[in-house]
Amino acid sequence: MAAETQIRIQQVSKVFSSAGGDVLALQDINLDIPAGQFVCLLGPSGCGKSTLLNAVAGFSLATSGAVLVDDVAVTDTGPDRGMVLQEYALFPWMTVAQNIGFGLQIRKTPAAEITATVDRLLDTLKLTEFRERFPKDLSGGMRQRVAIARILALDSPIMLMDEPFGALDALTRRSLQDELLKIHATWRKTVLFVTHSIEEAIYLADRIVVLSYRPGTVKLDVAVDLPRPRDPSAEGFNALKRQLSEVVMHEQARHQDDELRGITS
Ligand code: ADP
Ligand code: MG
Repeated sequence: MAAETQIRIQQVSKVFSSAGGDVLALQDINLDIPAGQFVCLLGPSGCGKSTLLNAVAGFSLATSGAVLVDDVAVTDTGPDRGMVLQEYALFPWMTVAQNIGFGLQIRKTPAAEITATVDRLLDTLKLTEFRERFPKDLSGGMRQRVAIARILALDSPIMLMDEPFGALDALTRRSLQDELLKIHATWRKTVLFVTHSIEEAIYLADRIVVLSYRPGTVKLDVAVDLPRPRDPSAEGFNALKRQLSEVVMHEQARHQDDELRGITS
């Protein structure tokens, strides 16, 4: 039986109004995402990936249309949707362990339970020896591990990730990608992951949704049926890469045309 739809994006459009005029960032986006699916949103800069993610997160609501999570309309942020951003949002004055346990503390979870959960997650994310460190003393990769652990502590069924590994070097990035795949396989979270890297999308996703450049519409929606762990040098991987490159490059070119005409994003 197919998994139930967990995130339903219905006719979502988003207009940003400013003194310079209106920008139609998203237009009539429709997506049904089943529970447990790992979806990558792919597209060039300015095509509305973050805007769509923010609408699901409840940070910035759609101008028209609706986002439903488990059949309930999103009107605000909520603990069922954890967000990881490229710029990690850890509390600098808290240790790694305190950052991970913070959400549970807010929920007034008993201290012993918080400690047990935090210990388990420190172990899962290979952070145990850094538990008393502060974010400033961590590498970018470790900070992102803490950010992921924080969402897992809250047990959010949905993970929203906006180019979370974009600032990392290639090796750290690959190890975090593998970590995330393991977490996805174990916890069966629904993941909505934004990237502009075609290779990252193919390496990670069950399904890739390519957005067109302004207004953002669903340009392509493909299932990725390659076995895991995926090998970027395999023929199937490269065939999909060529197919996606063609579509993304076309949208990228439209972005550059806009930039030449002085319409920047
Ligand atoms: P992406 O994440 O794909 O790079 P965004 O979702 O950030 O794209 O932006 C999509 C479009 O909406 C861009 O043209 C951007 O300039 C515009 N935009 C995004 N946020 C705002 C905002 N707060 N005010 C005005 N325009 C915005
Ligand atoms: Mg973005």
